[in-house]
Amino acid sequence: MNPDMNLLDDKQDDALSGCPAETELAGRSSMCEGCPGQALCQQQSGVDPDQEFIDIRMNAILHKIIVVSGKGGVGKSTLAASLALALAQQKKRVGILDVDICGPSISQLMSVQGQKVINTQWGWKPLQSKHGKIKVMSVASLLDQAESAVVWRGPRKTQLIKQFLKNTFWGKLDYLIIDTPPGTSDEHLTVLKVLKNTRPDGAVIVTTPQTVAMDTIRKEIDFCNKMKLPILGLVENMSGFVCPCCQEITHVFSGNGLESLAKESKLTVLEKIPLDQALVRCCEDGESIFDRYPDSSVLNPLERLAQRFLQLPNR
Ligand code: ADP
Repeated sequence: MNPDMNLLDDKQDDALSGCPAETELAGRSSMCEGCPGQALCQQQSGVDPDQEFIDIRMNAILHKIIVVSGKGGVGKSTLAASLALALAQQKKRVGILDVDICGPSISQLMSVQGQKVINTQWGWKPLQSKHGKIKVMSVASLLDQAESAVVWRGPRKTQLIKQFLKNTFWGKLDYLIIDTPPGTSDEHLTVLKVLKNTRPDGAVIVTTPQTVAMDTIRKEIDFCNKMKLPILGLVENMSGFVCPCCQEITHVFSGNGLESLAKESKLTVLEKIPLDQALVRCCEDGESIFDRYPDSSVLNPLERLAQRFLQLPNR
């Protein structure tokens, strides 16, 4: 290699170390003078005018819990909705936000599909579920039927989520449960970026007992660690089928790797929720499991789960 080239690389490296491109000083620090990227950095840096507004809204909410899963179909939205119901049962003021733009299901689970979002002078008024007066905001309530979710990509998607968090008039809440798409996507990154000053309490990772689900959880854990998002714990859903006649538990799915994964990752298995037909019926009809099936096998685990979150320290 040409020694001059080497020298040039070293100089460039030296010059770049300490480059404030990722900081608030981007384009404004003394070392930016003469840098060809200065104008671009100046454009991209600075305080986001929306952020202050978002912080005010989010500061009125005591706890923000993000529900995530490594893959779809594990019951993440069901768990998010059931957790909201369980907290509302404890007389808490609860809101639920669905940022799963490609597959929103919270509107149906909370039975608010017919309602329209009203724009008031204080912002978008969340829909209200008749169960426990839970406030609901979902992309499904905002998009016209004709508008395909495919349209919502990249920056438009980011902007939509930001608008959700900026414009929705949640008022004072004890808990905001945020249902996210499966995996780790733009939606997660946007939510975390927007909540950077009013940090969420953490993530609940939902999974099923199959061994194949374990790898996807590892990725989810890794993502949370990289993003410095605390992990509140793991929830195993569809954890055994409780026979409606004799209450005997049958383990439908194989695999019991969750405990060892939790141990290895120093995480807690918060709860195991059984597979229960009553829960499916409630999800399909948009009803509360607490009202319709007070004897359901999922109620005790859901109540214990809610109790854990009632003990979250105030921030
Ligand atoms: P995800 O959000 O992970 O894609 P959903 O919450 O949409 O998953 O759930 C997928 C399906 O599994 C739904 O039909 C739901 O009713 C059902 N389901 C979820 N949890 C349970 C459970 N504990 N018992 C029985 N069915 C469940």
